[in-house]
Amino acid sequence: MGTDMSSQLALKELLQANNTIVDKILQSEQEGALFTTPDPRTALDSNLFPIAIGSAGLEEGEVLQRLDRIMAGTPSSSNWRFVNQLFGGRVNIAVAAELLAVIANSSMYTYKAAGSQVLIENEVLNKLLTVAGFPGGEGAFVPGGSFANMAAMIVARNQLFPEARDHGTGDSRAGIYTSEESHYSIVKNAGMLGLGRRNVRRIPVSSRGAMLPEALEAAVEADIKQGVIPMLVNATAGTTVRGAFDPIPELLQIARRHGMWLHVDGALGASLLLSRQYSSLLEGLASADSLSWNPHKMMGVPLQTSLVLFRQKGGLQGSLDETADYLFQSDEELFNPGRRSLQCGRRNDALRLWAAWAYLGDDGWDQRIQRQIENAGIAARMIAEDPDLILCEEPQSVNVCFQVKGRDSAEICSLLNSSGRLKIGYGQVKGQQAIRLVCINPELDEERIGRILGEIKSV
Ligand SMILES: *Cc1c(COP(=O)(O)O)cnc(C)c1O
Repeated sequence: MGTDMSSQLALKELLQANNTIVDKILQSEQEGALFTTPDPRTALDSNLFPIAIGSAGLEEGEVLQRLDRIMAGTPSSSNWRFVNQLFGGRVNIAVAAELLAVIANSSMYTYKAAGSQVLIENEVLNKLLTVAGFPGGEGAFVPGGSFANMAAMIVARNQLFPEARDHGTGDSRAGIYTSEESHYSIVKNAGMLGLGRRNVRRIPVSSRGAMLPEALEAAVEADIKQGVIPMLVNATAGTTVRGAFDPIPELLQIARRHGMWLHVDGALGASLLLSRQYSSLLEGLASADSLSWNPHKMMGVPLQTSLVLFRQKGGLQGSLDETADYLFQSDEELFNPGRRSLQCGRRNDALRLWAAWAYLGDDGWDQRIQRQIENAGIAARMIAEDPDLILCEEPQSVNVCFQVKGRDSAEICSLLNSSGRLKIGYGQVKGQQAIRLVCINPELDEERIGRILGEIKSV
């Protein structure tokens, strides 16, 4: 029982017992085991998972047994059959570091509370700022790319409307411009920040899914005539479905001409900055105002590892700092990241990224990304050569979009999910539904990609 202290296994023993469950998960990943979870209604109604919490506590051993059964019904995103989302696979050393972060259980607001972890966080931020071309800038870890976009929108709003933080934006209407194919968080954030979802303009895209600069210009000018104040352009680097890149230099020119902030949503694509061959897809970034970056996507660091970076220092603290004499009691500002973060108590997101980078080095990232893009190329070639499949377009990064001739893409994905054979999703490409194969797990190779396409064709 939870109340009987003497029955508690020591933490060390618990962790060892946990390893038995870990072994099973790793084994099933290695075999490319099928996913075994039925639909949620059936799972719930048949008490498939021992999830009920009773009024009497259980022995820890019993809790572990239940966890074992629950984990068996949890799809591992490191199984190569998981190609559903923009993450998958893992960098092992990052997982090891993450476990240490959990044991230390630091809260990252002050050096006083988190010690060397704050220095680690600053080091990682400086590395990323340098890679982004923002050497004198600042940044923060945030709980996901959606919040990275939100932090950028907050700082942009406060720059255009210096009164906004204290008094709101009053009757002013701020125009926000983002492509039709950009991530939904831009619209969601406009709602959350009181800027208004209806003040977001969805700008048309080219046949390759990139925002059209002339359409942006037209939307901005139409807004100005209506009394809307243009505030922010969101350029996406790696759109969620097609992996498309908006043209940063062109959008930057328009943004500057109208006094707007240029944010780059690189949640998916900023990792290409670490690639010698593909970093030019983000050309012009160094002159942008801010960047969102999710190392939990292409870099394989556990969720959520997300950052927002700013070219100039000061905006974050200017937008987020509050007085809290019970919290900020020691050291200079640099060592009190809580003064620049969205959260108060905040878990350590930096250590696992630091460990992955220390292990791989810049060269390791370059190779990892090369492999991911090569895999996308391999998949595209196999699809193009297959008479039963239609490739929607040449891949622009790790997303490969295609159709099965005469079949409904949504139905295929649903059948593959219910049979446990594959986790894969679909999206809209040029007005048509297409299957999106995400080549992000570097454990993919030609043979596995062939098996994935075989599953898709035979379902
Ligand atoms: C994934 C993604 C996001 C959202 O990131 P989360 O960490 O899931 O909140 C935002 N923008 C783009 C382009 C993305 O691909």
